[in-house]
Amino acid sequence: MSTKPTAQPPPLPPTFLQRMQRLLGDDFAAFVNSYAQPAWNGLRANTLKISPQRLQELLPWNLEPVPWCKEGFLLPPGQAQATQPAPGKHPYHAAGVYYLQDPSAMAVVEVLDPQPGELILDLAAAPGGKSTHIASRLQQQGLLVCNEIHAGRVWELAQNLERWGAQNVMVCNETPERLADHFEGYFDRVLLDAPCSGEGLFRKTPASRKQWSPVVVESCALRQSAILEQAARLVRPGGWLGYSTCTFSPEENEAVIAAFLRQHPGFQLAQQGARQGISPGRPDWANAGETLAPDGLHRLWPHLSPGEGHFIALLQRTGEEIAASRPGRFPRTLPAAASSAWHEFVQHNLVSDPAQGRVTQFGSYLYALSEQAPDFGKLRLVHPGWWLGALAHSAHSKEQRLEPAHALALGLKPAAFQRSLPVDFTQAMRYLQGEVITSQPGEDGWLVVEFNGFTLGWGKNISGKIKNHYPRGLRLPLAQ
Ligand code: SAM
Repeated sequence: MSTKPTAQPPPLPPTFLQRMQRLLGDDFAAFVNSYAQPAWNGLRANTLKISPQRLQELLPWNLEPVPWCKEGFLLPPGQAQATQPAPGKHPYHAAGVYYLQDPSAMAVVEVLDPQPGELILDLAAAPGGKSTHIASRLQQQGLLVCNEIHAGRVWELAQNLERWGAQNVMVCNETPERLADHFEGYFDRVLLDAPCSGEGLFRKTPASRKQWSPVVVESCALRQSAILEQAARLVRPGGWLGYSTCTFSPEENEAVIAAFLRQHPGFQLAQQGARQGISPGRPDWANAGETLAPDGLHRLWPHLSPGEGHFIALLQRTGEEIAASRPGRFPRTLPAAASSAWHEFVQHNLVSDPAQGRVTQFGSYLYALSEQAPDFGKLRLVHPGWWLGALAHSAHSKEQRLEPAHALALGLKPAAFQRSLPVDFTQAMRYLQGEVITSQPGEDGWLVVEFNGFTLGWGKNISGKIKNHYPRGLRLPLAQ
């Protein structure tokens, strides 16, 4: 009997290994050995919906805390793979109760330290790991603008934020230059989680080893400096600029920050204390010992702590005057027909109006806007706020009605709806696969499907049969 050979991962690039050996010296052996160990997985609690402690009690895996992130947990290697469903297919994941994230990536928002009420921009946001973390920290107060330059990736970002239940988020699809021209000096905090050569992906995604070369490192460093230049323009005086990558090369990390600080005396490196599990930066690797203090830079290493590795720097714009843009308020429009469609929907389906005074029509959709939502002018906006639903014409009359959005169901607790259908684990899985789950006598109309106190999405009761309105694009494949 012949057994199928298991595919070997591509080898680590020899030039990468030589470079790391030169940099790491005595630590190199431990670094290389870490590639023989399984990658760590992590998950982060959505504190808009649950406390970290409650999440730990609820989930079927043995979770260990991430030392540097109070909402973060480690999923010890192998454990999650052994269970059904996988953590990315569990009903609690579909309910937006947690986000799967590399533990070292969780350090970025810890260092950025966003505060409720602030105006924050996540400049390179897809698929939304750092954005969802920031949204939880804001606790629905203030505004988070999530931007992704690639049109193909912005929808995944939008979906992750919908699932998260964040109500004070705007999603856009712009270049950093156009954003900076419109929002010069506007944000309290800007995060640039930059596109990079991805050396920190080599263990989890071995195919990425084939894309790496010293030329890629060089071209990434040039691109990072160009984007950082624009990111800096977006920060208000006194505000903060976070820079991070998931790569180890000093050219893309310390050297980018050192060159930026030499050219921008109006910025300085924030001095933060040591954090458990996080190492200082290595300005000496970029001949930048005089420009950078090592403890203002943060490195996470796969051989020193659980995770794939990250670099983080936080800069502050010192208080000099700049010619800042002052965009006006986002234009609100709510024609009478749209207003009555919304109020009619609230009256028949919700306990109270969760978007009072904040509803606006945008194309044929209704959104609830953050109080602070600014005008985007001609910038490409995907979602101006919390998506409530789509306006549609009733079959039998000229009046408009509202088809509720998935984001509306996921942004509220089950108690906010007039009708909810609690389901057990098996029914929840069937619902997420798009099947008709059950029938329930009672009033016809919209209801939310609820799993253990968390909303999963919409259903519609039609003569006792519950029609499944879980979005088609999110449905799990049917079990074999
Ligand atoms: N912050 C994301 C997260 O935590 O899920 C990951 C961001 S990923 C490291 C970098 C992002 O930068 C990618 O989504 C990529 O499309 C985007 N990007 C690529 N080139 C860019 C450019 N020139 N300007 C702005 N963003 C760019």
